[in-house]
Amino acid sequence: MNQKIQMLQAELRILEKKYQQLGKEVEISNDALRQRTLELERQKNIMKHQALHDVLTGLPNRTLLIERAQQSFQIARRENACCCLLMIDLNRFKEVNDTLGYYKGDLFLKEVAQRFRLQLRSSDTLARLGGDKFIVGLPYTNATQAKEVIKKLLRTLASPLTILNKQHAVQISASMGVAVFPEDADHVEDLIQCAEVAMYVAKKDKKTAVFYQSDMKRDSEARLSLVGDLKYAIEQGGLELYYQPQLLTKGDGLPSFEALVRWNHPTRGLVFPDMFIPMAEETGLINPMTWWILEEASAQCAAWREAGMQVCVSVNLSARNLKEESFVRRVRQCFERYQLPPEAIVLEITESMLMDDPQQAAEVLHSIDAMRVEVSIDDFGTGYSSLSYLKHLKVDELKIDRSFVMGMHNNENDIVIVRAIINLAHSLGLRVVAEGAEDQGDWDVLDNLNCDRVQGYFVSRPMPVQQATDWLKTWISDKIKP
Ligand code: C2E
Ligand code: MG
Ligand code: MG
Repeated sequence: MNQKIQMLQAELRILEKKYQQLGKEVEISNDALRQRTLELERQKNIMKHQALHDVLTGLPNRTLLIERAQQSFQIARRENACCCLLMIDLNRFKEVNDTLGYYKGDLFLKEVAQRFRLQLRSSDTLARLGGDKFIVGLPYTNATQAKEVIKKLLRTLASPLTILNKQHAVQISASMGVAVFPEDADHVEDLIQCAEVAMYVAKKDKKTAVFYQSDMKRDSEARLSLVGDLKYAIEQGGLELYYQPQLLTKGDGLPSFEALVRWNHPTRGLVFPDMFIPMAEETGLINPMTWWILEEASAQCAAWREAGMQVCVSVNLSARNLKEESFVRRVRQCFERYQLPPEAIVLEITESMLMDDPQQAAEVLHSIDAMRVEVSIDDFGTGYSSLSYLKHLKVDELKIDRSFVMGMHNNENDIVIVRAIINLAHSLGLRVVAEGAEDQGDWDVLDNLNCDRVQGYFVSRPMPVQQATDWLKTWISDKIKP
């Protein structure tokens, strides 16, 4: 009996040991399980954060903004309150990237994000939509309060942004569009679109901030389809150059021409440049368009010269063209292709475009001058350039803006300005062209003031190429008549 008990006790001890062992193993695996769950949780949180935030700035992204805006719209609906969405796009950020490189461009964006963040309440959502585009969700905010937020955000950009231990200080501005819930739209996605449309209007009109209005969307849709049409026209030959002569006031020298672009729109008919050039500039289409214009004008100039008429043709450029890295090289190639001497094509750039980025313009003008190609400052008198600045620019001609010339009839001041510009240009050794001379009276005044060349309806309106060729031939044959 005793033996039996001893055996049972021994078995019990073995069982107890096994049980203890098992307990330990369970504890170990429980621990591992707990740790694994924690790790999974952590990874899930990281992934959730990544899905809802912008990697560069750490700000909420579009998805999180929509989620939060939906919540605040719900509350606002119940409480009859307003919310605002504010779309922000930095102006000329591409230039920062192009000049400083992407790494510094990224630092720059982080700095902007940080500055904005500091101006907002914790209940506001500042999100980055990508590139240099941000959006702010402002719960419990009406239009008047949104204006205050805009002021604060603009103020924060007023001092230059410094990056990399103040190695680079850059001044930046922004265009903002605001849409108000529930006035403008009552779904988040729609309201974002309204804010974006308003932001583009601000950009186009060079304003800092614009509030959405219902007719803007119709305009922007029409504009969008026009941009598509323009792109097609550039690629498929839907543009045409008209030529307007410039006559010398003194001597028998041949006239020259200014090439002016026209767009033959399939349904709208002939569209004038004042309508589509600003659009081409905003969308970047001005670059391919100018290359087409330069090519076409050079080919035409070469054709006239081959036919024995040694005329020069002026071509209008945009500030954006000067920013193209390959600009000077491509101009040179164009001259080579058509075997044109440097004086055959004059490049016109408006005074206000020169003043847009004077330093860069000066560099490009220097390279153009090295090719001995002539440059004219167009619409002179409207761009606020200082005279001392003008002295340092490599230019050959000033074109007096037509508003002064057309005003000479009934505004004595305009005659004074025209005279001053002519004298100034001559004292700097520059040629002067007056545009917008519409009658004999204008011609006589300009001739008396010693203006070198005159362009305007009095001489001729801009003409399609065949008509311009006929006009030129008639002018030459009239000259050689006894
Ligand atoms: P702009 O370069 O100053 O061109 C002169 C404008 O004045 C032309 O208008 C011409 O038709 C107009 N004009 C000439 N004489 C008279 C006149 O006696 N009276 C009046 N009322 N107007 C006169 P257009 O062709 O409509 O061009 C307007 C502007 O569009 C141009 O001003 C230029 O800034 C831009 N543009 C035209 N063609 C081109 C182009 O090929 N490339 C670029 N980038 N811009 C162009
Ligand atoms: Mg011009
Ligand atoms: Mg002009």
